[in-house]
Amino acid sequence: MRQLVAGNWKMNGLAASLSELNALKAGLGSAPCDVLVCPPATLIAQAAWAVKGAFALGGQDCSTQVSGAFTGDISAQMLKDAGASAVIVGHSERRQGHGESDALVAAKASAAWEAGLTAIICVGETESQRDAGKAEAICQGQIAGSVPKSACAANTAIAYEPVWAIGTGKTPTSAEIAAMHAHIRKCLVAALGEEGRGMRILYGGSVKPSNAAEILNLPEIGGALVGGASLKASDFLAIIAGVKPL
Ligand code: PEP
Repeated sequence: MRQLVAGNWKMNGLAASLSELNALKAGLGSAPCDVLVCPPATLIAQAAWAVKGAFALGGQDCSTQVSGAFTGDISAQMLKDAGASAVIVGHSERRQGHGESDALVAAKASAAWEAGLTAIICVGETESQRDAGKAEAICQGQIAGSVPKSACAANTAIAYEPVWAIGTGKTPTSAEIAAMHAHIRKCLVAALGEEGRGMRILYGGSVKPSNAAEILNLPEIGGALVGGASLKASDFLAIIAGVKPL
């Protein structure tokens, strides 16, 4: 399985930040993996013009609706029109900060597919849930509720992002990551059959140049979703360099 390294810029980036995308393009060469950057929606069209297909671009969220009276929302079709080929849905900062439910995340994934985008559906437990021994059950529940039954390997990737590892510098041990990815694989196969077997499962949470190779070489790792360390091309390139050779 070809890995995917995706960057989530969150609410960071102005026109001047396009220089980082130009540096990424210049440094990428023939990447050993698929590469995706999800800048703020305001930059996608300019980014598409700048990078000219050297790597893919994505949104960080989308509406469940195609168009209409939804002030401030952005549809998947608009992201596609601006140059995106993927969108992150169900990031924990949306689930927690905006009260997004599993059902809403599932509807967003369906809206993404309708527009021709790949959905990257995020799941992950909080620290207290992990401490209570509930991490696997939480991820299982989020997969059951947020991954529509028609998901397939071609239109969906799952990102396992333990909430307590996002932006904190803390990461699970390699054994913990491998165990959770094996568990998520089991859940996907149970829910989706063969399609669940081929679906990429990304790890996200404080991935950086110093830990990327170890994480990306674990079993069942289909790539990484990278927040803070995707903002600088040099760091993101160093993470990509850690990809497992096919
Ligand atoms: C994220 O925002 O999806 C993320 C994983 O952030 P960070 O890499 O900064 O922990």
